Amino acid sequence: MNDYDVAVVGAGAAGLQAAQTLGRMHQSTVVLGTDRYRNDPTGHMHNFLGHDGTPPAELRTAARKDAEAYDDVTFRDAEVLSVSGSLGDFVLELAGEEPVRARRVLLASGVRDTLPAVPGVTENFGDLVAHCPFCHGHEYAGTRVGILGSAPHVGAMASMLGPIASELVVLTDGGALEESVAQTLARLGVPVVEAGVREVRREGSGLVVDLADGATVDLGGLLVKTDWALAGPFAEQLGLEVSEMGAVVVDAFGRTSVPGVFAAGDMAQGPGLPMPMASVLVAAASGQMAAAGCVQDAALARIA
Ligand SMILES: Cc1cc2nc3c(=O)[nH]c(=O)nc-3n(C[C@H](O)[C@H](O)[C@H](O)COP(=O)(O)OP(=O)(O)OC[C@H]3O[C@@H](n4cnc5c(N)ncnc54)[C@H](O)[C@@H]3O)c2cc1C
Repeated sequence: MNDYDVAVVGAGAAGLQAAQTLGRMHQSTVVLGTDRYRNDPTGHMHNFLGHDGTPPAELRTAARKDAEAYDDVTFRDAEVLSVSGSLGDFVLELAGEEPVRARRVLLASGVRDTLPAVPGVTENFGDLVAHCPFCHGHEYAGTRVGILGSAPHVGAMASMLGPIASELVVLTDGGALEESVAQTLARLGVPVVEAGVREVRREGSGLVVDLADGATVDLGGLLVKTDWALAGPFAEQLGLEVSEMGAVVVDAFGRTSVPGVFAAGDMAQGPGLPMPMASVLVAAASGQMAAAGCVQDAALARIA
């Protein structure tokens, strides 16, 4: 069984940056990841300095090459089934491969999205349908933008999109808005369509929404809310503290509630945040912080 200073679970932005930081600090590191990433549905990544519009896979390929250049970093394309043990002696069981042993574990296994069950949403997600106005709102600039759903976030979403869209419309798909949300939308002058949504389909460079009452709405883009959950079973297996939102609670150095276990990226919620700030740049930054936390804790333990 191989023995490492740190096992990083996940090879997305968080795991890749953590690997580079650990490699530079000569920590023997294994990065265990499959090739499923949260932003797989999109061809272009935005809101990242120096890489606005870059295909996400291109960034990951370059980041993996950077990390692989360090002798102490090993990549294994493997699915981690379980993590057990405690500080100084964690065991990671892998699918179809020998287990791995590590003194510390850095979880960067991300989250998985479940999309609203409206036909056409999944097919257009990451392009004409998006969940994040920071990632994809600008691409809809100057068009009529729809917001699907009746959850409380709809009012704030409309307010955020106001400066970007030429027009907004909320499609509740038969759901009922809270009174305060309805009032917010009325104040913003955003129309609300309450009919059920039968289908969302691409037409030309935009979308057409077919409503249950036979009407249609033309859009330049549609914002939806996804339900997300941790991609891996590790929080439960290790008994990590989880926030109300379902993310792993971490301190500024990515330390979880269990000694020797760190977390970064979309799965981790840092201090003062109401939810994980899910972006590629923040994931990479938190990967670096968690790696620094690992290095620092190991160094302090050696001189204690
Ligand atoms: C459609 C869409 C578009 C987006 N666009 C943007 C954008 O334009 N700009 C932006 O900044 N952000 C964007 N985001 C958000 C961005 O994708 C995430 O914030 C970022 O990918 C999080 O990185 P991560 O490293 O935490 O997780 P991921 O990139 O999802 O990586 C998770 C890693 O963990 C691995 N993993 C999971 N489970 C296991 C397991 N059991 N064993 C081994 N490995 C495992 C996966 O294989 C993967 O390697 C978008 C998100 C979506 C859904």
